[in-house]
Parts: sequence; C-alpha cells; structure tokens
Amino acid sequence: MSTLPGTEEFRSARRRMVADEVEAKGIGSREVLRALLEVPRHLFADDALRFQAYGGHALPIGWGQTLSQPYVVGAMTEALELTGEEKVLEVGTGSGYQAAVLSRLAREVRTVERIGELARRARSVLSRLKIRNVHVACRDGSNGWGEHAPYDRILFTAGAESIPAEVLDQLADPGILVAPVGGATQRIVVLRREGGVDRTEDLGACEFVPFITSGEGRIG
Ligand code: SAH
Repeated sequence: MSTLPGTEEFRSARRRMVADEVEAKGIGSREVLRALLEVPRHLFADDALRFQAYGGHALPIGWGQTLSQPYVVGAMTEALELTGEEKVLEVGTGSGYQAAVLSRLAREVRTVERIGELARRARSVLSRLKIRNVHVACRDGSNGWGEHAPYDRILFTAGAESIPAEVLDQLADPGILVAPVGGATQRIVVLRREGGVDRTEDLGACEFVPFITSGEGRIG
C-alpha cells in the first residue's frame, strides 16, 4: 500500500507510541500495528495538541468529544479481524483517525458523525492524506447508513446503552460488530454473527463519550 503524505514527521514518536502503548499492552496483530505506525495521528489532533498526539492518552478533538487512546484504537481494530476485503461502517467519525486506521486494513469504510463541523474536518484531513476509500456522512448513527448496508464489520466509537436495532440489522452474516456498551460503566462488546446466530464476547472495561440516541439527532 502507498505511503501516506505527512508520515515522515513524528515518525519516531509514532514508533515509540506503537511499541510502548499498543504492542507492549497486548496488541499482537502485525497488520494493526503497521496501520497505527502509518497513520499520522498528530494531523487529527488540534494544532495546539500536535506534540501530545503520541502519548498513551485520549485527545480532545473539540465539541466535548475525544479521540481514543492508542491502545483502545488498536484493541477495537484488532477485534474486527480485518483481512482487507471488508466493507466497514464506523459510527462516530470524530476526528477521522480511527477511520484512517481502518482504511489501511479494509476495502471500504463508511463513517457517520452527528456533528457537522467534525465531519467536515475529518473529511478534509482524510483528503489531505489522499485516503480515498473512506466516506464520511453527517448523520445520526442510530440509523446506521442503510443505503450501503450490509456491512461486514461495524464499529461504534461512542458508548451506547445498547446497540440500536436498526444498526444491528445492517450487519452482514458472517459479520463482526464491536461497540462500547453500557451506561455509567461501559464494556467493549464484540458481537459475532454467523449462520444466523449472534454471540457476544466481552473485551473489558472502557470509557467512551456517550452515543447520542435518536431524537437528539444531527447538529451543525
Ligand atoms: N472515532 C473517533 C472518536 C470518536 S468520539 C476518532 O477516531 O476520532 C465519538 C464520536 O461519536 C463523537 O464525535 C460524537 O459526536 C459521535 N456521536 C455520538 N453519538 C452519535 C450519533 N448518534 N450519530 C453519529 N455520531 C455520534
């Protein structure tokens, strides 16, 4: 795959981040580690935070939203078991960083964001990076993105009390959905669909910004 523009900058910081914050904490997929090494995380952070982009922490991206810490991005991406062939739906584009990581590992990524300004910013960074297999839409993720369903993989990056039924209906069979689920205490849930049966697995505790359910809708 071609190198992304902007990857020379901060390369050694990125290498350290992947080694210390992702690989050392248990993420073993070579492909996922390579994708994290390739995507210039600093370009997705606010200008003032560029130099903090490669720490082990989450980053504020405006509008009270955050870009997850590198380990969580790695763990959720690994759980999707991507082979390069999949069509993926992400709910919660935020900065676009997670979508950029997915773009290196899947065939096509569709990502939805309810805050117009975040969707616009994400689109502009992705286009600057010449990432062409990610499509960003400003819409309420409670309804997924039905026009392009079914999806081989679905990833939520905002914590819902439960997975909206309409989105679950958009998961292919076989398919995998990964989402932070729960109220005050959230867990990352991996749902595997195979032969018409859904099985869930718990990947551990997490802390995500809330998924805004229907009614509060799209803004901006
Ligand atoms: N994946 C992002 C981080 C996302 S933070 C990244 O890589 O930067 C979670 C995002 O989910 C926020 O931007 C928030 O606005 C969005 N969100 C919350 N509820 C939503 C909904 N119902 N529909 C679409 N997006 C939603």
